[in-house]
Amino acid sequence: MSGNDILSGVSHLTDDTEFYTPFPSGYVKGRTKYVVVFGTVMSGLGKGIFSSSLAKILKDKGLKVAPIKLEGYLNRDSGTLNPFRHGEVFVLDDGMECDMDLGTYERMLDQDLSRLNFSTSGQIFATVLEKERKGLYLGRDVQMIPHVTGEVKHRLRELAVASAADVIFVEIGGTVGDVENAYYIEAVREMAYEEGAENFCFVALTYVIEPQSLGEQKSKAAQINLKLLNAAGIQPHIIACRAHRPVTKKAREKLALYANVPMERVFSMHDCESIYLIPEMLHGAGIDQAVLDILHLQPLVNEQREEDARRTWNAYISRFRGAQHPVTVGIIGKYTSVRDSYASIIQALEHAGTHLNARVQLEWVDSTELTGANVADRLRHIHGVIVPGGFGFRGVDGKIECIEHVRRNGVPYLGLCYGMQMAVIEYARNVLDLRHAGTTEIDRDCPDPVIDLLPEQKRLEGLGGNMRLGGFDVILTPDSLISRLAGGAERLRLRFRHRYEVNPDYIQRLEAGGLVFSGRAPQHPIMQVVELPESVHPFFLATQAHPELTGRPLNPSPFFLGLVRACLVRSGVTPCDDGSEARDADEGCGSERTPHVGSADLVDA
Ligand code: GLN
Repeated sequence: MSGNDILSGVSHLTDDTEFYTPFPSGYVKGRTKYVVVFGTVMSGLGKGIFSSSLAKILKDKGLKVAPIKLEGYLNRDSGTLNPFRHGEVFVLDDGMECDMDLGTYERMLDQDLSRLNFSTSGQIFATVLEKERKGLYLGRDVQMIPHVTGEVKHRLRELAVASAADVIFVEIGGTVGDVENAYYIEAVREMAYEEGAENFCFVALTYVIEPQSLGEQKSKAAQINLKLLNAAGIQPHIIACRAHRPVTKKAREKLALYANVPMERVFSMHDCESIYLIPEMLHGAGIDQAVLDILHLQPLVNEQREEDARRTWNAYISRFRGAQHPVTVGIIGKYTSVRDSYASIIQALEHAGTHLNARVQLEWVDSTELTGANVADRLRHIHGVIVPGGFGFRGVDGKIECIEHVRRNGVPYLGLCYGMQMAVIEYARNVLDLRHAGTTEIDRDCPDPVIDLLPEQKRLEGLGGNMRLGGFDVILTPDSLISRLAGGAERLRLRFRHRYEVNPDYIQRLEAGGLVFSGRAPQHPIMQVVELPESVHPFFLATQAHPELTGRPLNPSPFFLGLVRACLVRSGVTPCDDGSEARDADEGCGSERTPHVGSADLVDA
């Protein structure tokens, strides 16, 4: 952070007040409303899904919304977190490596986010300590209250100014009662006091337990944990109850009474088959109206816009629920035991499947168990394969065996980042006959380093250089597979997170051997998309990027559309070229498909 950033908004500080509330310049008190979402009882309730769904239905009404996730951990970003423990690392266009919830927000809101939408305790404390060194606290002892909480409030107001949002959705990571998020909770309590009651809406997400042995919902854990929020000085306006089945009136009545929340503001938010059904569930239950009432936002609602947005969304949901043709996609990975580490891939496949009337089933294949001897058998029922991103040597041999198998046998293939590098290595070894081709990520002295450090990484090496991160443009070769999938587009904007690339010294040889580089960086010889001609293979496409991060429900990634379409063909279904519809081979193309499920069926999924 530059000195100027640090100084922003602190000019009015004096040492004769107990308040430390540095307002960023341009901030107008009362212009922005805030919805704060807390989790109680336990983690993993889906706070991000809830908060993004609520933000979406307000956005659909014509309100400008901006989310922020406040993480308790001390890491400055999520880049160093193990996806086994924390789920995938989601990369924003500006290069911020963040929590996978930011992916949920981007997909649900169809809105690109930036580092302003993501805060960790590491970032907050780093800023406070830097300000202390610069003497900006005017000789005061630097304290959790008001200085650390002041920094949190500053972040929220900074987002308010930068986004010009009508409503900011603040998701507090962790669970009420945790040590590490307590100062975030204190900060929003202070801020509600400063901004005025009509500008803050507190929503407590809680969990209603239903022990199998009792067959009855129990609300005691929720009651006790909601009291922790009261003890922190916060009275929730709304309670949303997570549960497996719809929460009974009896359980909701108990919660209303214990937590001082009117019964009509205690909602059930039970499990449903896709997260994209949740906005409609929240709308059906009336949570959006409750928020509008609490924050006096009704005058901003544009009913026509809301109707149009809901119609489009519900059409997507109907297609999702009515999707007919099963296809099986194998994901060949290392973290296959933790699905969260592939969250965006799962989503991107769901979007593409929905658009193509396909029900995509996933088959998780542990790459460490694949060998030349078992690969054919292991992939027998699979219509297409994804080798996703990865790092290091574990499972690499299995991935290369798998790619050789799918390349030789015409099985649809999509390689993502490491999956593209592995495809290039496989091609160099088995087609160009460079038997010792490899990547310097695994073997620094590799005789044929077809994958090598990016030039800027070579310069940074030893300094703990970061990866090539964030959104970059990709120039597409006209009439290539990827350009056709992207509707003839000349360039795509994709997200990247890598340190290695196709070694420019081998590009000519690889091209002469038949590999097609169909996407490149505008100014550097960085190969970003590789494919095989359709005369050679029905669908073989790989990219240095992570296209799964930019797939959106209403705007699926062309890479995933291509894969699912090829999987349909392999499964014996003919996808139509016009509106990306798929029917059984004998049905033909052309007519409008009737949705199988009407939007009326959506409430109470
Ligand atoms: N390990 C490879 C690199 O750093 C690929 C990274 C990835 O798959 N995200 O280039």
